[in-house]
Amino acid sequence: MVGQPAIITDPRKEHTQGKQALFANIGAAKAVANIVKTTLGPKGMDKMLVNAVGDIVLTNDGAMILKGMEIENPTAKMIVEIAKTQEDIAGDGTTSAVVLAGSLLQKAEELVISGVHPTIIIKGFRAASGKASEILDNYAIDVTKDNKDVLLKIAKTAIAGKSAEAYGDHLAKLCVDAALEVAVDGKVNVKENILITQDPGHKISDTELLEGIVINKARLHSAMPAIVKEPKIALVASDVLVQKTRNKATFQITSAEQLTQFAAQEEADYHALLDKIIDTGANVVVGTKNIDQNAADYFQKRGIFAIRRVNEEDMKSISKATGAHIVKNIADISEKDLGTAGIVEQIGAFDLGKTYIRECHNSKTVTLLLKGATEHVTDNLSRTIDDVLHVVKDVIEDEKIVPGGGASEIEVAQGLRAFASSFEGREQLAITAFAEAMEVIPKEIAVNAGMDGIDTILALRAKHSEIKNAGLDVYTGEISDSLEKGIVDPLRVKKQAIKSASEVANMVLRVDDMLKSQRREMMDVAPEHNIHNYDAMGM
Ligand code: ADP
Ligand code: MG
Repeated sequence: MVGQPAIITDPRKEHTQGKQALFANIGAAKAVANIVKTTLGPKGMDKMLVNAVGDIVLTNDGAMILKGMEIENPTAKMIVEIAKTQEDIAGDGTTSAVVLAGSLLQKAEELVISGVHPTIIIKGFRAASGKASEILDNYAIDVTKDNKDVLLKIAKTAIAGKSAEAYGDHLAKLCVDAALEVAVDGKVNVKENILITQDPGHKISDTELLEGIVINKARLHSAMPAIVKEPKIALVASDVLVQKTRNKATFQITSAEQLTQFAAQEEADYHALLDKIIDTGANVVVGTKNIDQNAADYFQKRGIFAIRRVNEEDMKSISKATGAHIVKNIADISEKDLGTAGIVEQIGAFDLGKTYIRECHNSKTVTLLLKGATEHVTDNLSRTIDDVLHVVKDVIEDEKIVPGGGASEIEVAQGLRAFASSFEGREQLAITAFAEAMEVIPKEIAVNAGMDGIDTILALRAKHSEIKNAGLDVYTGEISDSLEKGIVDPLRVKKQAIKSASEVANMVLRVDDMLKSQRREMMDVAPEHNIHNYDAMGM
């Protein structure tokens, strides 16, 4: 039996081991980073995403791009995950996080090639990441949460380079006002207390901030009341239909009476469901699904205001603001599920207008009514506004900012280089590599603005020892005091980007064995999903 290799894995599984597995994974991670890196910074490019049915999205939002790419490769997916984490925790900085992860892995790959073991790199990266966090804490500038001037600068830095940049001043102000308006005990709940409603067919500059909840839905019947004062609001998350139920069961109907009886019974059954809602005393019905014409007629005759197909996010906001529970099963609805507000009103033509829910008792809620020529414009605007609201939230909550335009990355890089010299072993190499990887952020911001990446880094390094806040301003091409220029980022965005990038880099570095089930059908259809092809493509 000498020389016979023992087969311990399913031979049908694709098995990649050791450095080969590591390099394949690093290749995939770098491929993802390369895709988004051209969008980094105010002068970054946009990506055009086209889905299977030909819908087009133009965006430079890192998370959105990666979401739209429907990535299959497992390592690439891990990188996409960090964009999501970044979005959830900090609300901005997704591109930076992904680019940084790619850069860390690029440096790690070079170290492995030169003979440093991945476990040493992991140790060094971990130490560097912790230290980076500390450096940023010391570098951050304290601000107060009601300093509107600072909040506006934070907002404007986040808008820089987005397609709505031309309206930056107006939009920044609306976002800052919205966040300050709903702040409670220094906390801002963007998701629940700031509604974003798109209203295409207008100019972006007409975008406005309104008190209460505004839903872009009109009441279902012109004879429904346009105004309901002190409304009792029912929220229904299932279809409200009066139509023949398509039962699978077959009935044997043998006589005319039976048929009439069956029809009457059915009729009563339909209305029984509507009556369940009406019996609670509700005079406003908001549905996430369909409310058909017959149901709308039935409601209208009873003086009830009804709107349908309200999206789930909006529904949650209404629930929070009015205290109404979202009811899935109409049979279970009762009076205690109803919510209240000062007024529910439809403004505008009966079939085109919007529904306003104002003077909500439970929580302060505001709506940003986004305007734009087309739905593409308002869609894109809503992604930008979401980033902006979150950076403002970050600063209201943490009261800490850092100078932008690469200033904080250079500060971390320099701090880490000094830190590295306190290590004697090979970890020192990993920490230095981490420092170099940080500089990819200002480098890419510069390259995307048509500047020379290396010259910019050298100039930044030199200037930084003179002026601590020195950063790049791509609009003038100069290196200046970013804080004075008003180019500032929330501390939270920068800390989280480093944290998640180094975590995912370490995760990738730990893998030395990869077993992949052959999904024959899929691979035949889409061979580009095979991990090794990223290498072959030279990415
Ligand atoms: P991310 O998805 O990481 O937020 P962005 O494309 O929004 O990517 O770019 C953010 C980076 O751009 C931040 O590091 C920020 O400091 C920098 N930045 C913003 N305004 C300027 C400017 N005028 N000059 C140079 N860099 C800028
Ligand atoms: Mg950004």
